[in-house]
Amino acid sequence: MKNETICQSCGMPIDSEVIKGTEKNGSINNDYCKFCYDDGVFKSPKMNLDEMKNNVKTQMKKLDLHEYTIQKAINILPALKRWKS
Ligand SMILES: [Zn+2]
Repeated sequence: MKNETICQSCGMPIDSEVIKGTEKNGSINNDYCKFCYDDGVFKSPKMNLDEMKNNVKTQMKKLDLHEYTIQKAINILPALKRWKS
């Protein structure tokens, strides 16, 4: 199985350098995508896990993805670095 990098905040597959988040000094952050983390900060710093679940669900529904795929994506969220406590 391919070792796939996923964003440790939203769970989105990060398959290209272009969508990786960046630090304040312009270096690449390997944990988060640029939609979650940009310029050294989270774009929605106050977002909690439930809000992220809703967010992911809404985005994936827009893409017309299968309910099973959406559920699978949501189920991995609590294990991600940003939400693990
Ligand atoms: Zn993300």
